[in-house]
Amino acid sequence: MDGIRVGKRIIGSEAPVTIGWENIGRVEGGPVKRFIFTWFQPVALFALIAFWYYAPNSIAKASTAIGIGIAFKALLLGLEWVNPRYDSWRLTWKEMVTDLFYVGLGYTVLRIVDGYIGSDAIVHAIQHSFDWDKFAWFTGLPLLVQAFLISFIFDFGQYWMHRGMHNWYPLWLPHSVHHYITQFNINKGAVGNPVELFLIGLGIGGLFDFLPRAALLAGAISLGVGVYMHINVRFNTPRWWRFVFNTTEHHSVHHSQDFEASRSNFAGIYIFIDRIFGTCVDGEAEVLGLEGGRRMAIREQMTYPFTEGWRSLKERFGRSAPAQPVAAE
Ligand SMILES: [Zn+2]
Ligand SMILES: [Zn+2]
Repeated sequence: MDGIRVGKRIIGSEAPVTIGWENIGRVEGGPVKRFIFTWFQPVALFALIAFWYYAPNSIAKASTAIGIGIAFKALLLGLEWVNPRYDSWRLTWKEMVTDLFYVGLGYTVLRIVDGYIGSDAIVHAIQHSFDWDKFAWFTGLPLLVQAFLISFIFDFGQYWMHRGMHNWYPLWLPHSVHHYITQFNINKGAVGNPVELFLIGLGIGGLFDFLPRAALLAGAISLGVGVYMHINVRFNTPRWWRFVFNTTEHHSVHHSQDFEASRSNFAGIYIFIDRIFGTCVDGEAEVLGLEGGRRMAIREQMTYPFTEGWRSLKERFGRSAPAQPVAAE
């Protein structure tokens, strides 16, 4: 395979990657279907934002947000069935059982963390340990600006964390498990090693029951954009959206079997962060997964970072183990 030059890098020399928006598949079918799958994403995002902007205080709570998240994902599961991006990504029973294991794990961890951090004493301590008056300049900004800033700062941090995971071996070990997925569907974002899930859960699960409105709006933006990262639906995503926001296409390139392609599109929500730092590749990939798409069973996903880390340690400090190729740094 020749690959295509993107900036200074050659993308797609090891595995097929489609480069450039003009080469990406379009929604096929009648005018109604094309209309729905062209407008769904922006309409859903604006509806989510409008809901959290106008919702009365009595329902503007974290529990409502979790309920909306579950309902929205159920709807998208239906869209995957109606209009899949790739037939090769169609949900099988085996895939679904694995996914549900992780989705269940995620909610359990979230509940446990929430049980500790959400307890009254700790909420009280946090609320009183900050001098909230110092944030007056921030809370005086328009609500949507606050929401954008919160989601941007969060995503900026996650961009560098994610890039670090791909560049530093101890962080790569837990993250690599997520890169063994061989197809996208709505629940795949939850699949990974519990160490990674725990780190992410700590970041999101905390500070739960006294979320200010701006944080709920920021959560709505990350749901309305981030939910498409791992999904098997073909959309005609608007040009402005693809320029600003992360998409299934971008994230499928990140999961590609091509090593150079996988070292791009690190952002979760705002792909323009990748554009700024020169790591953005506009395109899509169908063939996913490390080690040529070797499927990992749950048991191996759980133990892999530890067994693989132990193997590397032995290699470095002992001489007994045979040399193993390393998938990524
Ligand atoms: Zn990654
Ligand atoms: Zn992913």
